Amino acid sequence: MADTPTRRDLIGTLSRGAAFLTLSGTAGYLVQKAQGQIVWQVDAIKCVNSRIGDTATEACSLCTTACVVTQSAVRAVNDFANCGRCNICPAYYNIKSAVDPATGLPSEKRCPRDAITRKPIGLADPQDPANNFYEYVIDENKCDGCGKCVMGCKEPMGLGSVRLMVRHGLCVDCNRCAISISCPKDAIERKVVSEALTLQKVEHAEK
Ligand code: SF4
Ligand code: SF4
Ligand code: SF4
Repeated sequence: MADTPTRRDLIGTLSRGAAFLTLSGTAGYLVQKAQGQIVWQVDAIKCVNSRIGDTATEACSLCTTACVVTQSAVRAVNDFANCGRCNICPAYYNIKSAVDPATGLPSEKRCPRDAITRKPIGLADPQDPANNFYEYVIDENKCDGCGKCVMGCKEPMGLGSVRLMVRHGLCVDCNRCAISISCPKDAIERKVVSEALTLQKVEHAEK
């Protein structure tokens, strides 16, 4: 007859099981990381620049200054699926600047690096500006992720289509992202590739 397992046997078995699960979980994580399936990414819900409600604050520029890459690996991206193609885009224009009498549009742009272009979609009717639509494209060679346009494109003036992203072709995938150490909102996180792929579709739509 088999011996009845003692309490010590049971605890030993459970401990080995837990250790195995931990090791296999860690191994799985490392394999996913090595295969580029787990990446650093900005959580738009937490980032002060895109979070609804944080309208009275200045844009946080730590994604620009804290990255170890010279021109940060973070960029602003316009998610066209959610863009209103507004005549007066609050990401493109400084809507608090004086109105230019010649155009009826704000006289200043928001981007300090002139990284956003504005192109009319179809024929623009000067008599009906509110019904003219525009495509806003961000030049990623110029953008350094300062977040000013992101801060502009959110309620009540924008739809939140412009957001910050860690661009995986530029990111060197630090073991601990230097921006995540500085981020006041703990908004830089490891995410699995499925979400990153969704975001990459946004990147492709941009071209
Ligand atoms: S450091 Fe954090 S809060 Fe600041 S822009 Fe980057 S993700 Fe947003
Ligand atoms: S994040 Fe800054 S540099 Fe990039 S497009 Fe927006 S305003 Fe310009
Ligand atoms: S992981 Fe490194 S290179 Fe990538 S965004 Fe963070 S600090 Fe920059």
